[in-house]
Amino acid sequence: MEILIVDDSETSQLLLTTVLSSAGYAQLHSASSYETAHDTLIACLEGDRCIDLILMDINMPGVDGIEATKRIKADPELARIPVIIVTGVEEEERIEAAFEAGANDYIRKPISRIELLARVRSAIRLRDEMEKRRDRERELEDLTEELRELSNIDGLTSLGNRRWFDERIANEWLRGRREGASLALLMADIDFFKRYNDSMGHLEGDNCLKQVARTIRDAARRPADFAARFGGEEFVLLMPHTDLEGAKYVAEGIMQKLAELAIKHPDSDIGPHVTLSIGVATTHPDMGLDQQTLVAAADKALYRAKNSGRNRVETETA
Ligand code: GH3
Ligand code: MG
Ligand code: MG
Repeated sequence: MEILIVDDSETSQLLLTTVLSSAGYAQLHSASSYETAHDTLIACLEGDRCIDLILMDINMPGVDGIEATKRIKADPELARIPVIIVTGVEEEERIEAAFEAGANDYIRKPISRIELLARVRSAIRLRDEMEKRRDRERELEDLTEELRELSNIDGLTSLGNRRWFDERIANEWLRGRREGASLALLMADIDFFKRYNDSMGHLEGDNCLKQVARTIRDAARRPADFAARFGGEEFVLLMPHTDLEGAKYVAEGIMQKLAELAIKHPDSDIGPHVTLSIGVATTHPDMGLDQQTLVAAADKALYRAKNSGRNRVETETA
């Protein structure tokens, strides 16, 4: 426990020091002005230690105790340290100003040993309670953030869900507009997936969805790329700063990897394995348009891929 005594009178300093050290408070600092007090506080911060409590006299030459309290409470690094004002009888009318300045408590001179120790203990207890509460609040914030993330994640595939995708594409749209960059969207739909479920069962269907999801996510290499489950067996991959060539290249990579996985499909018109149809679209986010234009374009390309035989990539520019 480190206590800082700020008082221009050496007698007062001595008295406070004697009482506190006799009660077992060994780490005592004294300062006779705001400036030296401030130096001590800063030195402690730099040494990664902290003053736990300040006892502050009101009447001091130069910066008085009230102004000193105000300055300490205005400094975010120091504001948490409790300040107990020590006042003489002639200064009583200034107690109100001291509280306004942010003082936590006050005691009267002449100092009574019992009162001083009681006030010191309760100020420190209060500070500990506040710190604990602050920690709990921080934990709660972390938990809220975790929950928010969980509620943005698709339970089956661990990709982003539709809600998160909507949020991301809206943000990337704005960012693309600011930066004048092109934004690419890939939309993939498993071919004949209803028949896959019908012949393999829903559990195998879920497994297949997980594998396809992983394939799509792994194909996205840049940190800003974002893969999500758009709906049942449809996936999207949002790629900022990517042009049509680049997005098409990623799409071909997904087709390739999926072919390598060779997931058995007993009832597909394409062949013995699960395949994808992919629509790719890019645009330069512009005034007047919104992100739905890009989604619609990718959807249109996907539709074309389905109608022209499936198991292929089609492109579209919005
Ligand atoms: P197409 O080639 O035209 O895309 O035909 P499709 O059968 O894949 O498309 P359709 O939209 O007719 O059927 C999609 C199927 O996806 C319907 C449903 O059985 C399946 N599905 C959707 N969500 C899930 C899911 O969470 N788990 C499983 N196992 N299947 C799902
Ligand atoms: Mg579908
Ligand atoms: Mg499908």
